[in-house]
Amino acid sequence: MIPRKRPAWQAGEWRSILARAVRDVDELWRLLALPPALLPGARAAARRFPLRLPRPYLQRMRRGDPDDPLLRQFLPLGEELEEVAGFVTDPVGDEAALAAPGVLRKYHGRVLLITTGACPVHCRYCFRRHFPYEKQRLQMPVVGSEVEEVILSGGDPLSLSDARLAELVSSLPSRVTLRLHSRMPVVLPQRIDTGFLAWVEREVGRGRRLVMVIHANHAREVDGTVEMALEALRLRGVMLLNQAVLLRGVNDEAEVLAALSRRLFQAGVLPYYLHRLDPVAGAAHFQVEDERAGELMEALRTELPGYLVPRLVRESAGAPYKLPLS
Ligand SMILES: *Cc1c(COP(=O)(O)O)cnc(C)c1O
Ligand code: SF4
Repeated sequence: MIPRKRPAWQAGEWRSILARAVRDVDELWRLLALPPALLPGARAAARRFPLRLPRPYLQRMRRGDPDDPLLRQFLPLGEELEEVAGFVTDPVGDEAALAAPGVLRKYHGRVLLITTGACPVHCRYCFRRHFPYEKQRLQMPVVGSEVEEVILSGGDPLSLSDARLAELVSSLPSRVTLRLHSRMPVVLPQRIDTGFLAWVEREVGRGRRLVMVIHANHAREVDGTVEMALEALRLRGVMLLNQAVLLRGVNDEAEVLAALSRRLFQAGVLPYYLHRLDPVAGAAHFQVEDERAGELMEALRTELPGYLVPRLVRESAGAPYKLPLS
């Protein structure tokens, strides 16, 4: 038997990686040897929505290639400044769905908490890039018997300390499923450290069902460190799902999406949603046409077992669920 590797990330190591994240566009250009012609536009775009990228993630990218599908997701570009009809600041009606500060109740039986505005990375297509994150401390809302699941979202809930996470869910009855929507295991797997895993073990030990919905858009994002973090979670009883966003220049090819599903499966994760881009101002250059999206889904259904085909959905203000497409 080959012994499996266990993550040996020390509690809190992720914080220092995050503190040293690349935030300066000029530095990114130097590190990845990017074309100087794109730099002025990038500087302007980053003034509106800052660059943020942990250094270990940079090692998965190709140098000298502004079209690298990993870099593309985080690369500020002059195109973001163009105003495009239909691309707005609150595309999914979140502000109307706020039941209390930071508490979104859109769907039956589920409550979603905006726990923090902080993310380990800044994805250029983010639908919350203009969201007015409240400053006040979020309290866990009173959870009535109709609530079956509490979803911690953000921002990225794993930007919070383990102590703050524990405090937030301490009043949550163990019958309530806890779901975490986090990009951390993919972009900063060091976050799944000994302290976090100890908290997971305590929650699962109380009989809590834990679901983590990670966010990877391309197979190459899932490297060996990511796989280790995911395995550590899975071995402790966390159900792992992935949500991706359909993005032009990142994953708008059938082979790329199929490779993502297969890679996720190898890492013990099932594809859950493939989101249509929310029409958020500054992200129009990522849009994939409806017809193309339908073709891609058809190709995936033909190519893959049903359980590796994500559901193509669109968020629609006022709808009772995320609307399936094609
Ligand atoms: C996406 C979302 C959920 C979760 O929806 P599922 O279809 O169960 O994944 C819950 N609340 C809000 C506000 C959401 O945006
Ligand atoms: S991790 Fe999620 S919330 Fe954070 S910037 Fe990316 S898409 Fe937005």
